Amino acid sequence: MAYKYTHTAVIVVAGLGIIAMIAVAPQDKAFLYYAGLMLVVFYAYTLSALRFFYALFASLSITVLYPIGDNTFVGTSTDRLITNMFFLGSANLMGMPISYLWEHRIRRDFLLTMLLALEKRKSEQLNRKLRDISYMDGLTGVANRLKFEDYLKKEWERAKRTKRPISLLMIDIDFFKDYNDLFGHLKGDSCLRRIAQTLNRHTRSDMDLVARYGGEEFAVVLPETELPQAKNVADRIGEDILALNIPHPASRVSDRVTVSIGVASLIPKENLQKEVLISLADKALYTAKKAGRNRVEVYRFNS
Ligand code: GH3
Ligand code: MG
Ligand code: MG
Repeated sequence: MAYKYTHTAVIVVAGLGIIAMIAVAPQDKAFLYYAGLMLVVFYAYTLSALRFFYALFASLSITVLYPIGDNTFVGTSTDRLITNMFFLGSANLMGMPISYLWEHRIRRDFLLTMLLALEKRKSEQLNRKLRDISYMDGLTGVANRLKFEDYLKKEWERAKRTKRPISLLMIDIDFFKDYNDLFGHLKGDSCLRRIAQTLNRHTRSDMDLVARYGGEEFAVVLPETELPQAKNVADRIGEDILALNIPHPASRVSDRVTVSIGVASLIPKENLQKEVLISLADKALYTAKKAGRNRVEVYRFNS
């Protein structure tokens, strides 16, 4: 900030220095130093890169101080002084527009850069918002199928690298078609929302993912989780959904809404695809349905 003041002062002092040299030089040599004044003025307007106002101040100071100094210490003839002032004035007139336009351009570029940065931030925010929306299930507010696929892929690859287990729960509401047939789709929708909220309560927000896999099916991804812990989470989810006490008179397994859950867990081998985990959890879910619903089944390799 103070740099511009120092720089302006240095230029004025340089001008004064040259005026002093003109004063001490022999009369017939004084004019030689005079060209230096024009260079200083030109420097102030161009290479100094000073803002227009400061360049103008430094140059006009020199332009005014020169005739005063000359008159006091040298006494150059009026003809010569007028000629010198003409060239010094011309240097000012040439320098002014250069300095002014340069500053104008710098300001405009700065403004454009700021505007561009602002636009970039806005579009980044918008992109993030759009991505969030495209990853969310509109009805329940949990992740949608797209997010599920992306997240499982990412965590599956991480589990591969770290050779750590990853678990998956597949959750399906029992006799949900009958629920809809009895109460209508609006009530069915609100039941789906309550189930989704319950699932959210059982997950670690920074690691696990609850997603609507489709229709009345949900999936929960549990990275860094072995089978017994995953089964534990599934059991607690089943109990909590039962505890919601959502009446379901059309169900053939309970008087309330219940779910069947399939659990699978793997430490992914190098050549294994994530679909394997989905298919194992799905098989376990199928077993739970076949075994009578309202239960948790775990996929075991020897089963
Ligand atoms: P099961 O115990 O074998 O799972 O029987 P189910 O009736 O739950 O299974 P089925 O696949 O026969 O029916 C699923 C029903 O889920 C059908 C459909 O009406 C309902 N469903 C799917 N998506 C939605 C939704 O977004 N809103 C509502 N209200 N119902 C939905
Ligand atoms: Mg289903
Ligand atoms: Mg169902």
